[in-house]
Amino acid sequence: MAERTGVCVIGGGPAGTTIAAGLARLGHVVTLLEAEQFPRRHEGESLPPSIVPLLDQLGVRAEVERAGFFRPTAAIVHWAGQRRPQTDWGGSPGFQVDRGRFDRILLSAAARAGVHVLERATARPPVRRGPRDWTVEALTPAGPLAIDAEFIVDASGRRGILGGRKRRLTAPTVAVYGYWSGVGPAGGETRVEAGEDRWYWAAPIPDGTWNATVFTSSERIKGRPGDLAAAYRQLLADSVLLSEIGCGRLETTVRVCASSPQADDSPVGVDWIKVGEAAFAVDPISSQGVQTAIAQALGGTCVAHTLLAGAGTEAAVTYYANRLREDADRHLRQAGVLYHEQWRHRPTAFWAARSRPAADEPRFPDRPLDGGQLLVRAPAVRFVSAPVIRGDFVRTERAIVHPNLDRPIAFLGGVPVAPLLDRMSHPTPVWRLVTDNSCSDGTNRSLAILRWLWNRGLVEDAPPG
Ligand SMILES: Cc1cc2nc3c(=O)[nH]c(=O)nc-3n(C[C@H](O)[C@H](O)[C@H](O)COP(=O)(O)OP(=O)(O)OC[C@H]3O[C@@H](n4cnc5c(N)ncnc54)[C@H](O)[C@@H]3O)c2cc1C
Repeated sequence: MAERTGVCVIGGGPAGTTIAAGLARLGHVVTLLEAEQFPRRHEGESLPPSIVPLLDQLGVRAEVERAGFFRPTAAIVHWAGQRRPQTDWGGSPGFQVDRGRFDRILLSAAARAGVHVLERATARPPVRRGPRDWTVEALTPAGPLAIDAEFIVDASGRRGILGGRKRRLTAPTVAVYGYWSGVGPAGGETRVEAGEDRWYWAAPIPDGTWNATVFTSSERIKGRPGDLAAAYRQLLADSVLLSEIGCGRLETTVRVCASSPQADDSPVGVDWIKVGEAAFAVDPISSQGVQTAIAQALGGTCVAHTLLAGAGTEAAVTYYANRLREDADRHLRQAGVLYHEQWRHRPTAFWAARSRPAADEPRFPDRPLDGGQLLVRAPAVRFVSAPVIRGDFVRTERAIVHPNLDRPIAFLGGVPVAPLLDRMSHPTPVWRLVTDNSCSDGTNRSLAILRWLWNRGLVEDAPPG
């Protein structure tokens, strides 16, 4: 006899726990299957400061802050010919976590939100019997378990349990890594170093070990499974910053995993969704994998909620596919620039294959507006329907497009922008626009929105006369 659930989430990493908790809070019956028993080791231990607002949204910030993870304020970076002994982040620090405990905090939060969490439950690929009719078999210590579900979330990491074509977005890169003890001071600085055909990353983990990782082309280690450990030790010995770590004690086997960024071509359907690395895996050079997985899963929660409600399916599917594509493009641009910096210093094939010169980002002026100024909508503004998140759902709203926007915009600062531009088909004074109902959220905010539109050329000075 199979257990019955509304949503079956496969994978209890940051993406799976985020969407599971979100859907449970929205009233869905959610079961989460996680193959491992937490805490377990997992790569992805540097979390930049920009993760903090997401931890707030998940309601786990205080718990993460109390967990005793390191709060790095500096790193030693050898990159693009520069040897910067210390890089101060400036603002508040991020976290250097061990993912076993970090992920357990998120998993416990999901359980508190009402998710039925099963650890040591390894799911087999789900079988779709018909629309909203799935069966998932899982292996558990108590024997096989069958779960019937209406909706499947694939949060199983970069391999993905739902299948589908994974498109590698750059040249193939692998990470070779191990955990070391007897090395340097606990809480020491993160180390990043560019080499000839590889780059290195090492950081102290709060459990007292150091993770030392070498990122290199897959050809470099292909066909060397027997002497992987020896090759890894040699790569560490060749490094300026990590060679002393290689003199410590290796506490784990040497592991190797794919680390090229990749995207799944079909991330969502009417009764399933892929989140986190199952949908899009970032290049670890950005240290943004965990926060990207959480952010995507937050958006994915509204997408899944809309699909489960059975209304707005097309909008939800389009919204999610577009967002993932935009995330991937932005991420590849940012990561490519880092490789490009090093390529300019050392133009080897490894760096060339991954580098992208910085694109000329459009620069918009920051001009003030005068209350008496007469403004009119620019002729290039067009109105379209676009899917956006409204509350907990994806909805289709009227939006504007313009050559200076990289995507349709429906709201600015929470204010619907199409009605504002609607009435600007004829010259209207700024003072009237800022006091108008369509942007009644306070004069300063309304003025800021108008200035944003004006500086991007979406509204213009009315022609004289
Ligand atoms: C070498 C390397 C270094 C990285 N460094 C960083 C970094 O410094 N900072 C950063 O933010 N990101 C980093 N990343 C990326 C980061 O690890 C991922 O982006 C992040 O873990 C993705 O989260 P996720 O929830 O999608 O998947 P995961 O964290 O991989 O979670 C997937 C979960 O699904 C479970 N699972 C898999 N199959 C099944 C199954 N059949 N049944 C049940 N459960 C299953 C797994 O046990 C796992 O717990 C790095 C990645 C690599 C490869």
